[in-house]
Amino acid sequence: MIGLGDAQGGAAPPVAAEEVPLYEIRRKIYPRAVSGVFARWRVALVLFTQLVFYGVPWLTWNGRQAVLFDLAARKFHLFGLTLWPQDVIYLAVLLIVCALALFLFTAIAGRLWCGYACPQTVYTEMFLWVERKIEGDRLARIRLDAAPWSLEKFVIKALKHSAWFAIALWTGYTFVGYFTPIRDLGVRAITWNLGGWEAFWVAFYGFATYGNAGWMREQVCKYMCPYARFQSVMFDRDTVVIAYDPGRGEPRGPRSRAADPRERGLGDCVDCRICVQVCPTGIDIRQGLQNECIGCAACVDGCDQVMDRMGYPRGLIRYTSENQLARGFGRRMLWRRAVRPRSVAYALLLLVIVAGATVALALKSPLKVDVMRDRGALAREAAPEVIENVYRLQLMNTDERPRSVTISATGLAGLSVVGLEQPIAIGAESTKLFALRMQVPLEPAGASAPTAGAHKIEVTVQAVDDDAVVRHDQTTFIIPR
Ligand code: SF4
Ligand code: SF4
Repeated sequence: MIGLGDAQGGAAPPVAAEEVPLYEIRRKIYPRAVSGVFARWRVALVLFTQLVFYGVPWLTWNGRQAVLFDLAARKFHLFGLTLWPQDVIYLAVLLIVCALALFLFTAIAGRLWCGYACPQTVYTEMFLWVERKIEGDRLARIRLDAAPWSLEKFVIKALKHSAWFAIALWTGYTFVGYFTPIRDLGVRAITWNLGGWEAFWVAFYGFATYGNAGWMREQVCKYMCPYARFQSVMFDRDTVVIAYDPGRGEPRGPRSRAADPRERGLGDCVDCRICVQVCPTGIDIRQGLQNECIGCAACVDGCDQVMDRMGYPRGLIRYTSENQLARGFGRRMLWRRAVRPRSVAYALLLLVIVAGATVALALKSPLKVDVMRDRGALAREAAPEVIENVYRLQLMNTDERPRSVTISATGLAGLSVVGLEQPIAIGAESTKLFALRMQVPLEPAGASAPTAGAHKIEVTVQAVDDDAVVRHDQTTFIIPR
């Protein structure tokens, strides 16, 4: 390249420009296996979340799949609860509750979700476990990757990818099993009879799992996850994060176990780099809180093991807060400071929404009624001195059992529903649409004659077998001049 000096008359010597790549080249990370308190928590969370994910679609409730998001029938079954398109508000509330819970836990304890329960973390843990079982721990994997291709290397790699592929395929199958009955899906998969979309989603979700957990790993957290980008705005100086204690650890340096670090002017960090080797995102936590840190606490376990071996107190890397590190207050104060305006506001909001949604769900009627005026049939005189209005009534029974209902109306003297054989039977989880005729006498007994114009009336649909199951809907009745 030509330097600026050439263009300005040749006075300055040419400046050699260095080519800088736009994107950082990925350095493959080989996280070292670690054991300890937080590793056990991570394993427990992996087992729990996957037991739920893989197990729930196989549960049965009232003769059907307990949890089924039946998109074709536009019904979401959640055990005894069936949500219809009209109930989309509950799904919106569920999303709001999830978001608020995430905000609350992030404000109090940082990236707990990322470190223990996020599917990316969980599947990466599972795939890493398989990798370690087949290829060995960190050093063995580094050596294997560096070695030239041989039959042995090919067999080992093929074994690992086959195991990954099997997990990914089963994950894709389970995912689709939430949207179409999983047993039926299994039978059709075995007999090569899957629908086009089903096959696509099994393959797509399986491929995404294989790619994200097997190949992309920490890159998903570093470059793709939107939550990683904005979670720092929820942090403050009292948020509990994983941090290295530089006041205790520095100056770092190697020493023998017998040496007294204070005599040698050293802190507690022996600069063994175990914390870096166990880190799934390959960062050095000693450089401070970083965007890439997913809060998995592997470095805490790794460093605690080193501290144990050296005979130093644990916790050189630990759950702490900026304020605790700066002011040195104790653990009790650390957790007491979890109660602060931001977290209390999130918690109260969460409580109110959850309580409101729970009450609304508990009071949710299995009947839905919609009365619409029939625009094609205006008010007419059905008989001498009797005015008739016609409506369309849409009745929906969201229950899993059939019901019988009666229909009545109030709001005008002598108002009655005519021409319907009552009670009306409506099947389980079904909708009925029919014409509803209502009549009003112009000279009702014991009441004054209705005036001309539109009158508000109320239609009541009452279940025969349960007084509590009742729905009202309002409309107008027109008396012509
Ligand atoms: S594991 Fe602990 S002692 Fe070793 S380098 Fe990391 S912080 Fe220092
Ligand atoms: S720095 Fe520690 S907590 Fe953060 S990702 Fe690495 S190992 Fe996990």
